[in-house]
Amino acid sequence: MDPKLGRMAASSLLALLLLLEGGMFSSSPPAGLLEKLFQYIDLQQDAFVQTLKDWVAIESDSVQPTPRFRRELCRMMAVAADKLRRLGASVDSVDTGSQQLPDGQSLPIPPIILAELGNGPKKPTVCFYGHLDVQPAARGDGWLTEPYVLTEVDGKLYGRGATDNKGPVLAWINAVSTFQALEQDLPVNIKFILEGMEEAGSVALEELVQKEKDRFFSGVDYIVISDNLWVSRRKPAVTYGTRGNSYFTVEVKCRDQDFHSGTFGGILNEPMADLVALLGSLVDSSGHILIPGIYDHVASLTEEEKNIYKSIDLDLEEYRNSSQVKKFLFDTKEEVLMHLWRYPSLSIHGIEGAFDEPGAKTVIPGRVVGKFSIRLVPHMNASVVEKQVKHHLEDVFSKRNSSNQMAVSMVLGLPPWIANINDSQYLAAKRAIRTVFGTDPDMIRDGSTIPIARIFQEIIGKSVMMLPLGAVDDGEHSQNEKINRWNYIEGSKLFAAFFLELAKLHE
Ligand code: MN
Ligand code: MN
Repeated sequence: MDPKLGRMAASSLLALLLLLEGGMFSSSPPAGLLEKLFQYIDLQQDAFVQTLKDWVAIESDSVQPTPRFRRELCRMMAVAADKLRRLGASVDSVDTGSQQLPDGQSLPIPPIILAELGNGPKKPTVCFYGHLDVQPAARGDGWLTEPYVLTEVDGKLYGRGATDNKGPVLAWINAVSTFQALEQDLPVNIKFILEGMEEAGSVALEELVQKEKDRFFSGVDYIVISDNLWVSRRKPAVTYGTRGNSYFTVEVKCRDQDFHSGTFGGILNEPMADLVALLGSLVDSSGHILIPGIYDHVASLTEEEKNIYKSIDLDLEEYRNSSQVKKFLFDTKEEVLMHLWRYPSLSIHGIEGAFDEPGAKTVIPGRVVGKFSIRLVPHMNASVVEKQVKHHLEDVFSKRNSSNQMAVSMVLGLPPWIANINDSQYLAAKRAIRTVFGTDPDMIRDGSTIPIARIFQEIIGKSVMMLPLGAVDDGEHSQNEKINRWNYIEGSKLFAAFFLELAKLHE
């Protein structure tokens, strides 16, 4: 017999014995419940990995808009809906219509799954958000293995979507199914919202959340998202905040047509010179933003928050080297993290109308548009920032006495998200992490904007937490994406322990 098959059969037998034993305790949770849950997850790990392999095999790429990928996406959602139904959940696959592409073809948007399991009136209700679509992947892009064939090498499970986000979604399902296999009452009511368009901008999601606010989401107490990574290879993390973003364009125009620098150079206010001066007035060489008032609403740093940064597992030298940067603006781990997470930053992104092809052109652009953005942090407000930016640029521009026209506009204003880390679910997550991993988590934020957390918090008004399972080197979106078997299996245990801890806090 294939030795692997033999191993599977033996583990299924043990699981069955365990299941029978677990059944005897079904009325009240036995003292050793946690151990039984963990033991069962360990015994089932090959089966759990096999399910992840089945899911990774579905090429649910939402980024490339082709009929074949859309069929795969819809199949993915159907497979997940079926899996949830077999857990006993009531499942609603909400049709969100179709998408019209510029070339005239129409593609279906995969349904969004709303599922629920249990409605004990005394139990807390936790809603899990996840997505089952993936970024594009092809062997020829530099993958060492077939991207849609989950392949294990040294405990690493390589495959597109393994960590972003199929693995974490399945870990949550594994945790639920473990309670059921042991015939244990679920300590919490569970809801799922699973989408298939996250990598393509979560088309139709916000509208659905808004629409279901008073129905599907009405009894929800907590929302958990497991769609980011730790900052370490081995130390778990809990994410409690993300920065927002306000994106600006500044146009300087003399006329629509360009000029010849031999014929007009020397007698004009050149739009590019104006624009470079405007962009150069935004931030100094130490990263400090020069727009008056911009720091006025930035939350002040408390002692409690300061301590959080000290214990975070980040090797600054390794981070700097792997980023191929000679020197960061700050020398300590604490300062670097604070400037990524809790202070605003201003970045200049580009200039439209600037001829960036190689060659010595003698053109004076007649109209140029500069682009920059400011990452927003608590308690900055995008519309206040908009006023400050406009006021500052108008001031700088007027001092130049230029005859050109300037127009500033804020094209995007996404607020930051921050959670209260003293909410019950954060406490429960910390306890569960201590139980499973034997350490306190890194309490982290994300310097980028992840709109989904803020959308849930704003619309539903309940506590949102990001509880990642993947390690810092998982390579989401890149070639050779992976999740470690250890992260996937211990992550399944983490969610099971989290359910129990959360229920305890509600007793
Ligand atoms: Mn993701
Ligand atoms: Mn992603």
